[in-house]
Amino acid sequence: MAKFQLKMATQLGEKIAADFGFTEFPIKPLEIAQKRGIRVEAKPSDVKGVSGAMIFANGNATIIYSRDLSNKGFENFSICHELGHYFLPGHPEEITKQGGTHFSRANFTESSSIELEADHFASGLLLPSGLTRKFLDSQQVGLEGILALADAAESSRTAAAIRAAECSNYPVAVIVSRDEQVAYAFLSEGFKQLGELAWLKKGTPLPSSLTRRFNANPANISQASKTCGETWLGDWFGGPKGIALDEEVLGLGSYGFTLTTLSSESRLSAPDEEEDEDAELEKSWTPKFAYGR
Ligand SMILES: [Zn+2]
Repeated sequence: MAKFQLKMATQLGEKIAADFGFTEFPIKPLEIAQKRGIRVEAKPSDVKGVSGAMIFANGNATIIYSRDLSNKGFENFSICHELGHYFLPGHPEEITKQGGTHFSRANFTESSSIELEADHFASGLLLPSGLTRKFLDSQQVGLEGILALADAAESSRTAAAIRAAECSNYPVAVIVSRDEQVAYAFLSEGFKQLGELAWLKKGTPLPSSLTRRFNANPANISQASKTCGETWLGDWFGGPKGIALDEEVLGLGSYGFTLTTLSSESRLSAPDEEEDEDAELEKSWTPKFAYGR
């Protein structure tokens, strides 16, 4: 799937949020559905293995969403994913062609093009770039900031993590994994600038790391345990040696995956010139990437 198509899908999500008058978190997908006359229903719990569905029948659109994970953020994300199938060019036609009912597996783990497009639409809708950047500016770089973003935006944690990587000015990598393998990874522009890096595609084995040891115990994931430590850029991505990163790891509960963020530590430098205190203060708050540790 072409990268620009996913970018367009994200941007359309952002545009829909703005068109429906949302200027702050949280964006409310149910209100958008309501204003468009789209019915939204919870999925019967005996239908397993899908995050939701989009149904076009007799001129009506109906969204079904899953409450299986008992997670408001994930439910919101699923509804936004289905809205993607309503708003994205070509999706209603494609679904109608296939009989009018489309079952979804939302949250970036599917590789089919309409699923990925709908996931990107959903993340743009729930987490528009401007609001996301503004929010992250006041937060710590890394997992804590991402979790605060997910709470404020009422979004799934993985969507918040991905948008944090996409919108952050800092070096941030987000890796979602299961067992010993990468499911997917997103890198911020700042992270990509660290050097020539390997691509962590689906199925890449996790390096020997905190994340890999964490995943070896299934209770860590089901109980949503959290841990952190230090790792080396080279262990994950090759590239330049001697770059240390914070590795923060969170089990995603019944979703069954693990979220890892690799980010740089912001270092404060002590102001030494009193007469230029403001400039120094500004400088001291500019995170510097720590090389050679
Ligand atoms: Zn779908």
